[in-house]
Amino acid sequence: MGMTQQMAEHQANIIDGRHHARKLESRVAAAATDLKTNHGITPTLGVILVEGNPASEIYVRKKRQKAESLGIKSIVKTLPPDTALSAIESQITAWNSDDSIHGILLQLPLPGRQDPYDLLQTIAPAKDVDALHALNAGKLFWQQTRQPMPCTPTGCLILLESAVKKFDGLHAVVVGASPLVGRPMAQLLLQKNCTVSIAHSKTKDLPALTRQADILVVATGNADLIRGDMIKPGATVIDVGINRLADGRITGDVCFEEAERIAGAITPVPGGVGPMTIACLMANTVTAAFHAHALELESLFKSADN
Ligand code: NAD
Repeated sequence: MGMTQQMAEHQANIIDGRHHARKLESRVAAAATDLKTNHGITPTLGVILVEGNPASEIYVRKKRQKAESLGIKSIVKTLPPDTALSAIESQITAWNSDDSIHGILLQLPLPGRQDPYDLLQTIAPAKDVDALHALNAGKLFWQQTRQPMPCTPTGCLILLESAVKKFDGLHAVVVGASPLVGRPMAQLLLQKNCTVSIAHSKTKDLPALTRQADILVVATGNADLIRGDMIKPGATVIDVGINRLADGRITGDVCFEEAERIAGAITPVPGGVGPMTIACLMANTVTAAFHAHALELESLFKSADN
């Protein structure tokens, strides 16, 4: 059998994000029921959506539907695109002092891609279910984070744990260095004792770097950035990217058809990281509700069969 033929026959394991999300969600739903029936508390998420970004509107709708299906109340405050930052801050501070709201999410990006940093700092750290407040980001840096966990990176890590037996010393390459995904992802991989490289748009010779990756996490927003010949045979590939093609289809940052012939395991888009991000957000919200009432809760992110 020729080499080409052999390579063509290889099929990566597909990491099913929906399956892993359902497992996490069942723990979230059980915890929400416990809160309600034993303590009379309804875990509640407040979402601020500044209109003008169609993708954000879809994400907020999905989060709301998921919340309701798990027994989490969600309140969406929709603001017009030209809303002043001070008015967004007023909504945040009102929810900070409202004991019935356990989690606050400011849907990003803000209109005009305004820097959200200052606004994010006005969210009470205990209610910061996206883990983007500087205090929570700093706790991650110090390996002190138990709650809240950064949603997308934590979702990626759960998927990685389903495919990788031992992380110690593996070379993990994270492509993308945003505060939302790439940077916290790199921190979590460091905590797992990986050797971590972070690549970004100024990285020279990206293929030479990605070809060294035992674990490759890609979050850039460029369809087909990662081609099959940029992947180390047998690598575990997590595709965070969400790109809408001209024909309306959604695709990731990794050329899936090429990658699945080389990688050991890979997440699809859709059906990979996306469902995990939402499940982790729900887990953060229910955990925040427990903690707000000084109630103990075993980490929802860990399970015996993860
Ligand atoms: P961002 O625009 O804030 O950051 C993109 C990062 O990618 C930057 O660090 C940039 O330097 C890097 N980059 C851009 N082009 C590159 C290139 N050609 N080569 C190497 N690096 C490059 O984006 P983000 O918020 O981190 O999101 C990244 C992608 O992940 C987007 O497609 C977004 O929609 C998606 N996303 C998905 C989920 C999910 O739940 N699946 C969650 C968050 C973001």
